[in-house]
Amino acid sequence: NIQVTKPALSIRLCGPRGFCAGVDRAIQIVVLALKQYGAPVYVRHEIVHNRYVVEGLEAKGAVFVEELHEIPEEHRQQPVVFSAHGVPKSVPEDAQARNLFYLDATCPLVSKVHKQAMRHQRLGRHVVLIGHAGHPEVIGTMGQLPEGTVSLVDTIADAEAYMPEDPDNLGYVTQTTLSVDDTAGVIAKLQERFPNLTAPAADSICYATTNRQEAVKEAAPGCDLFIVVGAPNSSNSKRLVEVALRAGAKRSLLVQRASELNWDEIGNIRTLGLSAGASAPEVIVDEIIAAFKERFAAEIELAITAEETENFLVNRELRSVPLTVE
Ligand code: SF4
Repeated sequence: NIQVTKPALSIRLCGPRGFCAGVDRAIQIVVLALKQYGAPVYVRHEIVHNRYVVEGLEAKGAVFVEELHEIPEEHRQQPVVFSAHGVPKSVPEDAQARNLFYLDATCPLVSKVHKQAMRHQRLGRHVVLIGHAGHPEVIGTMGQLPEGTVSLVDTIADAEAYMPEDPDNLGYVTQTTLSVDDTAGVIAKLQERFPNLTAPAADSICYATTNRQEAVKEAAPGCDLFIVVGAPNSSNSKRLVEVALRAGAKRSLLVQRASELNWDEIGNIRTLGLSAGASAPEVIVDEIIAAFKERFAAEIELAITAEETENFLVNRELRSVPLTVE
């Protein structure tokens, strides 16, 4: 009878982590729409950037499409849900033209950024959007305003190179899921070059992004490895990996499922940091912890930097549908 002693491991579990109020609301909208209207419920784009969530909803009868023309003629009376990232104005217009019934699951905090961008424009300012090219939220925010009236700036180098037509009439907004620290640098560069640049009335980076980065900063120093549960197309999750490295974690990985963990590469670590992006469900955090507990004598320490109480109401059409726990 050989007794194998597992190596000791301390797991620093960040809080807040995982689902934010906007993601929670978007998933509820699809679940409630399935209850209210029956399957299929169409969803334009991944409702949130997470395969596990998407596959769970597909199993319940949701059908994911990239564009509205993919919805078959015979299902035009079924609802189509727009994802939490927001959509350009042309999308609800297109839905109306096609006589589709749509439910908009755009996060209220993304809608707030849309309103700030429109406000800048109404007041005669050219809009500078700080964000990552190609991300659906950036496409949605740019698409609130006519083409050519928004300029996208991503990095400090972009901010240095940017040549506006009217440097005294600029207003900025940002993507909601950026790195708080990197964005501060980009804004500082723009302000240095364009002293009349107008800030939005409220910060565009959302509470969930800010809080998750804060907790990672607290937990990361001295970690041999820092794992962020999240998808490679999830902007806020990728930022957490960068924040962990910058705050002093020796290595950092973005992981979608425990089955991806490469134990030879992980090796003999003593301190593990763990967090999850805003679109990553808690069951996967549990799965990762369980995988480490099989191989290590793991103890969990909490790194909690904030309490979150945000909760967003679903669309009016769905408020009377009972949400039973399954
Ligand atoms: Fe809304 Fe922020 Fe969550 Fe995006 S990360 S869905 S903006 S709360």
